[in-house]
Amino acid sequence: MKEKKVEGESIGIMGGTFDPIHLGHLLAAEEARERYGLEEVIFVPSGYPPHKEKGELSHQEHRYLMTIIATINNPIFKVSRVELEAESYTYTVDTVAYFRNLLGPDKKIYFITGADAILDITTWEGYDRLLDMCHFIAVTRPGFSLDHLEEKLKSLDYRLFSKILILSIPGMAISSTCIRRRVKKGKTIKYLTTSGVEHYILKNKLYSQV
Ligand code: ATP
Ligand code: MG
Repeated sequence: MKEKKVEGESIGIMGGTFDPIHLGHLLAAEEARERYGLEEVIFVPSGYPPHKEKGELSHQEHRYLMTIIATINNPIFKVSRVELEAESYTYTVDTVAYFRNLLGPDKKIYFITGADAILDITTWEGYDRLLDMCHFIAVTRPGFSLDHLEEKLKSLDYRLFSKILILSIPGMAISSTCIRRRVKKGKTIKYLTTSGVEHYILKNKLYSQV
């Protein structure tokens, strides 16, 4: 059965390190927007994850600005500084709680992730509470098998399982890791991210001496 689109009552949140943001992220957000009638998608660049050393990740202001640049010509794509302003690392559950509080109980919140990121959801801080507050849209990503994901989701109890929606999107075999590697080797990154982000990376000499 086709799910009814409810325009104007749902928002998407797309979290990530965005180091850098690329076309895979933008396509995931756009496909989710169209499929679920999202009135806006808020990109939320992360602070420094506890498992990463400072320096392993570009400065948060670079990642924030690249996210702004990549989304500048889409009026419904917004960027939030909520995780950047926090004093310590913010978990997804805290971010969703922040938006739930801001938007009130009636707004539907969809947290958009790639199929790879959702695989280990049961290890996420407060995942049970998280799934009480929002739905997840897990978009397909080349290299990550849907069978594996479906198997994994079946092991969740029904209440949690029903909150995770799988969305098949045109595969884009792009990752931030591959962009960083290409820059380091002096290879082109044209058409993997937006031209603004490409120029920002080159102008600020990001990734060239990693
Ligand atoms: P890295 O290689 O540094 O891990 P990444 O490309 O995976 O970077 P992240 O910032 O880690 O980007 O990802 C943010 C979110 O976007 C995650 O949920 C991830 O699964 C999703 N995502 C990233 N790239 C793609 C893609 N090409 N297609 C679909 N989803 C993607
Ligand atoms: Mg990743």
